[in-house]
Amino acid sequence: MSRAYNFSAGPAALPEPVLEQAQREMLEFGGAGASIVELSHRGPEFMEVAAAAERDLRALVGIPDDYAVLFTSGGATTQQALMALNFASAGQPADYVVTGHWGSTALGQAAPYVDLRIAASSEGEGFRSIPPRDAWRLSDDAAYVHITANETIHGVEFRDTPDVGDVPLFADFSSSIASEPLDVSRYGMIYAGAQKNLGPSGVTLVVIRKDLAERAAESLPTMLQYRTHVKENSLYNTPPTFGIYMIMLVTRWLEETVGGLDKMVELNARKAKLLYDAIDQSGGFYRGHAQPAYRSKMNVTWRLPSEEAEAAFLSEATKAGLASLKGHRSVGGIRASIYNAMSEEGVTALRDFMVEYQRTKG
Ligand code: PMP
Repeated sequence: MSRAYNFSAGPAALPEPVLEQAQREMLEFGGAGASIVELSHRGPEFMEVAAAAERDLRALVGIPDDYAVLFTSGGATTQQALMALNFASAGQPADYVVTGHWGSTALGQAAPYVDLRIAASSEGEGFRSIPPRDAWRLSDDAAYVHITANETIHGVEFRDTPDVGDVPLFADFSSSIASEPLDVSRYGMIYAGAQKNLGPSGVTLVVIRKDLAERAAESLPTMLQYRTHVKENSLYNTPPTFGIYMIMLVTRWLEETVGGLDKMVELNARKAKLLYDAIDQSGGFYRGHAQPAYRSKMNVTWRLPSEEAEAAFLSEATKAGLASLKGHRSVGGIRASIYNAMSEEGVTALRDFMVEYQRTKG
């Protein structure tokens, strides 16, 4: 068996000890006589897994008691429609700060259900930065303000939590959840597809202030109301049990092996610096997409002098065991997704490859 260094944007690399444990437990979980994926979601084994996933995630991230932790299905995209359906009454505005592809998607998903306002956008300059807070035009009567904490495709991130007054702040943390410490109390709702930093695809984390979930429209189908999932503890219907089990393992790995989010962010910052330094020291051979002040620690995006050079770089990288580096078609070039599970060793191998590639082919 040979595992490549996997820079996939998602579904993405998972910590090897987690995969090994899942492998060991795949035929029999504990003394249950069956795999966790073969057991009732209302049985004692799975109920304990779900409780442990929630308990450990609360401790790791510091999620206050007045927030519910939900494990749902439908991906982050479903949340982008549900937030408008649940929280905006007819004709009420919602403010969007659009900083990349996923901020635009959030806007599109909400469009049929809410009076959309674009409070700020960096589209005009190719989504290379985050518009400064003092340039945002927020509405006093907005149902919520939506931001994308990290833009997976364009590779820009918020460096701090913007102050939006009393209006609830909703944030898409799909590609940066649990990559650094987070003050949950500043947000009304945080959501994240698990498939980058938390586990496999098929399960989505929602952290929502409980009083907001109560505000949701009751005319919606039961499954589409946040209050249902808060009240039923994510067990109204059959939840994505394998995904929740994997989130439990990844959360434990983050706490016990990495040493918590303070340690994780240090490592993530070191990893990102290796690549950004290689870009900055290449004399223009590699050109970073994001402006330096907004560079993502999770998704590093850059171009080479031509598309032919990029194709050759990707082909050589794959041969060298550096996989899934092709940028998204809307930005082009190269994207290295270096989520929590990507080791410093893997990023160093990519950095060395970049330096050597430029030396021999540049
Ligand atoms: N938001 C962000 C920031 C993402 O990176 C992605 C997926 N790459 C999505 C939303 C969409 O997530 P899903 O496929 O889980 O609906």
